[in-house]
Amino acid sequence: MEKKKDIKSYNYIELEQEMKALGQKAFRAKQIYQWLHKERVTSFAEMTNLSKNLREQLDQRYEIVTLEKVDALISKIDGTRKYLFRIGGGTVIESVFMRYHHGNSVCISTQSGCRMGCRFCASTLNGLERNLTASELLEQIYEIEKDTGEKVSNIVLMGSGEPLDNYDNVVKFLELITDEHGKNLSQRNITLSTCGLVPKIYELAEKELQITLAISLHASNDETRRKLMPIANKYSIAEVLDACRNYFAKTGRRITFEYSLVAGVNDTIEEANRLSGLLQGINCHVNLIPVNPIKERDFVQSENRAVQAFKTRLEKNKINATIRREMGRDIHGACGQLRNEVMKKGEEV
Ligand code: SAH
Repeated sequence: MEKKKDIKSYNYIELEQEMKALGQKAFRAKQIYQWLHKERVTSFAEMTNLSKNLREQLDQRYEIVTLEKVDALISKIDGTRKYLFRIGGGTVIESVFMRYHHGNSVCISTQSGCRMGCRFCASTLNGLERNLTASELLEQIYEIEKDTGEKVSNIVLMGSGEPLDNYDNVVKFLELITDEHGKNLSQRNITLSTCGLVPKIYELAEKELQITLAISLHASNDETRRKLMPIANKYSIAEVLDACRNYFAKTGRRITFEYSLVAGVNDTIEEANRLSGLLQGINCHVNLIPVNPIKERDFVQSENRAVQAFKTRLEKNKINATIRREMGRDIHGACGQLRNEVMKKGEEV
């Protein structure tokens, strides 16, 4: 039997084409899209404004992808929730729900595992397992809205995986989540974080989306960056920054730079000055993140004093900076750590 097609991964136009191919009128696409992305039904039988015959036809050809909630850890400190979802009946991924004063934010994974190899990151320890499909990206939000009974107003693509290494599915996801027939989220409420896949940043800029681009920089020179991030062997900081300038020119969106502070590696005042020099003239914001130590590596978090001093120096140099507040301290562990624990235990989940 032929494998059923993933109907939730079609954007609106593709769904219209699918319906036409089935000999249906285009407006069926609107009905089905709303069932999937607004009502979020899990079976074709629930699509009550379609004929029984069409529902059966759809059921034979398509599957409606859902995620299985394996676990949800809720922080007693700030209500942050860390979810573990099983995808495709196999591996598990993490997503995080956070409450802020401006609304609820969800951090989603874009790949199961990652092949970028950043030294401080837990998600990459076992390499890439597979890309997530557009429907699996969407479902992380849909499941969390269902589970919390609350609306999600901001999405960050900052969980496990490198979004630009899963470019096509991620772009499809962005189309779906912002589509007026579905969740209709504003592009401005979405942030995509990348370790800096330069050609893909140019490609994304051509789409002229209003999403925020966040760049994981983590160093102020190539030598240090190469020690932390293998991708720095492929693209220099200068090339990454050129791609950012182009992104701003195309979209008018301010760039976010992420900078994880590692004691004795990248947290000196000299580095803060050099970083300020690099970013001069770029409309940007720096997010400072005291590195979250993972037990497989011996990186040490910068002291509070060093983090503050780094921030103050950036500001003196007229670079906007914030220190990222750690959410759900009691349930986290660094990104990807919970998943690793679960994968190690294997059968027990
Ligand atoms: N692959 C993307 C998005 C995933 S990670 C990227 O590289 O941007 C989201 C952010 O968390 C990145 O800036 C990443 O470098 C950072 N990060 C990963 N592990 C971390 C850790 N242990 N401590 C602090 N920041 C970490």
